[in-house]
Amino acid sequence: MQAWVIGNWKQNPATTKDVDALLDTLLTAVADDNTSNVCQLMVAPSCIHLASVSARLQNTSILTAAQDISALSDSSGAYTGDCSAQQVVDAGATWTILGHSERRQYHQESHETLLDKLSHAFTQGLGVVYCIGETQTQYDNKQTFSVLDDQLAVIKDLLIKSKEQAPELVQRLAERLIIAYEPVWAIGTGKVPTVMEVEATHQHIKETVASFDTTLPAMMVLYGGSVNTDNADSFAASPMIDGALVGGASLKADSFLAIAHAFEQAKNKETL
Ligand code: PEP
Repeated sequence: MQAWVIGNWKQNPATTKDVDALLDTLLTAVADDNTSNVCQLMVAPSCIHLASVSARLQNTSILTAAQDISALSDSSGAYTGDCSAQQVVDAGATWTILGHSERRQYHQESHETLLDKLSHAFTQGLGVVYCIGETQTQYDNKQTFSVLDDQLAVIKDLLIKSKEQAPELVQRLAERLIIAYEPVWAIGTGKVPTVMEVEATHQHIKETVASFDTTLPAMMVLYGGSVNTDNADSFAASPMIDGALVGGASLKADSFLAIAHAFEQAKNKETL
């Protein structure tokens, strides 16, 4: 199976000049190797840089994603500060991240909000990287699976709603949904769960989503949270980990590509 390695640039870089410099090094390095044959690379720049980054990546193997879309309309409207799924598509992106813990934490994204966002994304043909994960306290209290079940219920509800109101969305969800398991306590902290813990959690996620609809294909589940050049090999070696969502280490082309190489090599071995 092809691994996915996705860079979440968050609110970085601060200037267009620095975005261009990051893209220059990324494109030069990708042109020099064939990582993208086995590893699907994707980057998620900030909304303001989405169109220019998408334009530069248009004829390359690297995909572009938004970091979020509006819950209020999939197209246009009087929603100051929002950016819709249609606008994201128009800017050249083909995917969006949704439900990132920083959106849940700083923008109080609820179940209903995320249900609307997922629905808008699939309506406009965007693929979705849906982020889920527990906080440190929830992890300490052994509530990880129940927290993830609550967050995954958005998928279940979207399936129920779509079957009644928009059956074409079920097919889009089946084809274009990726789950990113990101323990909140591991994001940007340098702390990571053990590979065994991630494996057990990914198995739970895959089984839970499969239980929503037996016709869904096996769900792709990425790990995210302090993935770096030192630990990427160990995550990549697990057949339960289909790729990585990378924050800090995606802001340098060499570390981002080293992580992609780790997944490329490990997934090559799996297919031998
Ligand atoms: C993220 O924010 O999605 C993330 C995984 O960040 P980091 O790699 O910096 O922990």
